[in-house]
Amino acid sequence: MLWLLCGPSRAMESQALVIRIKIPDGGAVDWTVHSAPQLLFRDVLDVIGQVLPDATTTAFEYEDEDGDRITVRSDEEMKAMLSYYYSTVMEQQVNGQLIEPLQIYPRACKPPGKRNIHGLKVNTRAGSANNSSSAVSDSLPSNSLKKSSAELKKILANGQMNEQDIRYRDILGHGNGGTVYKAYHVPSGKILAVKVIPLDITLELQKQIMSELEILYKCDSSYIIGFYGAFFVENRISLCTEFMDGGSLDVYRKIPEHVLGRIAVAVVKGLTYLWSLKILHRDVKPSNMLVNTRGQVKLCDFGVSTQLVNSIAKTYVGTNAYMAPERISGEQYGIHSDVWSLGISFMELALGRFPYPQIQKNQGSLMPLQLLQCIVDEESPVLPAGEFSEPFVHFITQCMKKQPKERPAPEDLMGHPFIMQYNDGNAEVVSMWVCRMLEERRSTQGPQ
Ligand code: ATP
Ligand code: MG
Repeated sequence: MLWLLCGPSRAMESQALVIRIKIPDGGAVDWTVHSAPQLLFRDVLDVIGQVLPDATTTAFEYEDEDGDRITVRSDEEMKAMLSYYYSTVMEQQVNGQLIEPLQIYPRACKPPGKRNIHGLKVNTRAGSANNSSSAVSDSLPSNSLKKSSAELKKILANGQMNEQDIRYRDILGHGNGGTVYKAYHVPSGKILAVKVIPLDITLELQKQIMSELEILYKCDSSYIIGFYGAFFVENRISLCTEFMDGGSLDVYRKIPEHVLGRIAVAVVKGLTYLWSLKILHRDVKPSNMLVNTRGQVKLCDFGVSTQLVNSIAKTYVGTNAYMAPERISGEQYGIHSDVWSLGISFMELALGRFPYPQIQKNQGSLMPLQLLQCIVDEESPVLPAGEFSEPFVHFITQCMKKQPKERPAPEDLMGHPFIMQYNDGNAEVVSMWVCRMLEERRSTQGPQ
């Protein structure tokens, strides 16, 4: 069919499109869209959210010619649906039939509410591609819906960041939750690290995550990664942070003690800062400690958003090998658990291997729970005294006490001889070491 080669004609696209939102109880709501070419997946979810305010909708479906349901969860899939719909419209026109509205079926997880079911008409304004907040027409029964849509927009556009201003460059790494990109922020000329996490969650949960992330704007410490903003596009959240040109510590093998000492000072200061804000890090490990060629060391990926942590955890099953024994056993989590993770991380960085030989961390740090049982059952490993200084061995031994209460409290960490010894503000040591390591890496890997 010629149609398939050319796509919908401009004339057809410029006509109003009627989307019939089918409701699980058998009703339907017609929504007239005047600017179909600019319609975004999020616009449709917004309107579904107003039709079914109590439902948790993250996607919708339409039926193909065989009656099979096709799921739509992105702008791309929306385009495919519209393309398919216009081809059926053309056939109806050719056959002189009545044009059927485009029927969609929200995928609701909870029973929908009964509000606004009959006779609701919602229109998108012509040319309002980025303006879904103003897409709701006067025929909506309540202005409060308009307001909540605008509010949502504001929340989702938190901070100064949005997708249009970002140019993605290299992939910096993949984690359990998502992918981190090196990116260029056009308006500011800044290089960023953008972590993109796919999340199949409702708009409600998206809102909750965005408000939980608010605290990141208030974090102001040279030992914590700078946060520039976050936004949702379709079902992905992007978190924009300061780029650290030395990357994370997990890729550096066996760090010498005099360098590690300065790194430990920064990590302890970063943790103490977070704890002072009543934030537990919850994911202390070498890949969440970042360094740069200026010799700065900063913590990232701390769990400020319970909802974000929970949503990621639903997708990625496993237990973190740096978790304290009490956490592996499912007991209560506190500052002391962060202290364990600090100890085991620095032990690994000093040895150049994970301290429990029976635990092989091949890919990432998530492991089946049974494999980590030895952390609960066995005595904690100790750094070999011959190879490391007495204060360093003592520091790690204290942090890795099996009983949480026996581990150092924040003030004891700062006052520990190992930390005091290296708390000399000498960033040069770390800086020179990072530069040398990057240089070595470049020369062994050759030009990229
Ligand atoms: P997990 O998902 O279990 O936390 P992870 O920490 O290795 O594992 P990510 O947080 O997704 O995974 O990070 C992937 C990699 O991206 C990191 O290992 C690090 O090398 C790199 N990275 C992350 N943030 C930055 C940043 N701000 N600057 C430079 N590199 C970064
Ligand atoms: Mg990380």
